[in-house]
Parts: sequence; structure tokens; C-alpha cells
Amino acid sequence: MAVEKTLVILKPDAMERGIVGEIISMIEKKTFKITYMAIKNLTDEDLEYHYAEHKDKPFFPSLASYMKRGPVVVMVVEGENAIKGFRKLTGATDPMEADNGSIRGRFALTKDENIVHASDSPESAQRESDFFVKNIKA
Ligand code: ADP
Ligand code: MG
Repeated sequence: MAVEKTLVILKPDAMERGIVGEIISMIEKKTFKITYMAIKNLTDEDLEYHYAEHKDKPFFPSLASYMKRGPVVVMVVEGENAIKGFRKLTGATDPMEADNGSIRGRFALTKDENIVHASDSPESAQRESDFFVKNIKA
């Protein structure tokens, strides 16, 4: 398995709750390398691109307002099998189904506020990192 890159977002609740450092520590301890990191306030345009597959779902408006509530931390993370590996570290979408040792399992209770995003496939990782790394504005 080659080294892969994945796109990770620590959602606004991670910043609000002061657990960014603890999550970064989990990422580092899993031997992933963070090769890009920026703090960003997401716009509707960013979210319509990033969550295009969910744009017509009933939860999209509340997802968008959650993601716009405050700054997020956008990261590119590298490692062996990073895409699948980071999804495992992230835990299931519904934190009640997530492994206890995962980020969502440790820090979240509902899928409305589940702390972290990670790309779900090589295609998404490419699409999302191109978008966020190129479009980043302070
Ligand atoms: P994941 O983030 O695990 O890839 P999805 O792509 O299915 O999950 O959904 C994107 C995000 O939308 C989730 O992380 C969560 O914040 C939110 N979400 C998904 N399903 C629901 C739902 N039924 N109700 C509220 N929010 C949801
Ligand atoms: Mg997804």
C-alpha cells in the first residue's frame, strides 16, 4: 500500500470545545503526518461544493449552519492507507455506532455535531484537497 493523502476538517465544535490539540495528538500518535493545516471560515459556496452529494438532503440546511458557526481546521494528512485509515480513526458517522477509541467515539454523541470530516475515497480526497488547498483564503 502506497502513501496516500486525505482531507480532514475539524468542525466548529472542535474549536469551540478546545479539543483541537487533543485530536491533533491522536492523529500524530497514529503516525499520520499533517502536511497542510489552515484555519478557515467556511462559506455557503464552500459547503455546496464540499457536501454536493448532500445538497438536496433534508439535513443540509442544518449541516451548513453548523459548519458555518465558527472557524474550522482544514488539514491534509498523509500516511500508509491514509484514506481508509483516517476514516477508521474518525469513527462511524453516527457517534453512537463509532468505536470508543475513535475521534467521534471519544468526543461526540450525535451525528448533528460529530467533530470531524475525512474523505471517504481516493476520488473525494483528490477533489476535496484540490478545492481547499487552492481556494484557501485567510
Ligand atoms: P461522513 O461525515 O461520515 O462521511 P456523510 O457523508 O453521510 O457522513 O454526512 C456528512 C455529514 O452530514 C456528517 O458527518 C454529519 O455531520 C451530517 N449528517 C449526515 N447525516 C445526517 C443526519 N441524518 N442528520 C444530521 N446530520 C447528518
Ligand atoms: Mg461523507
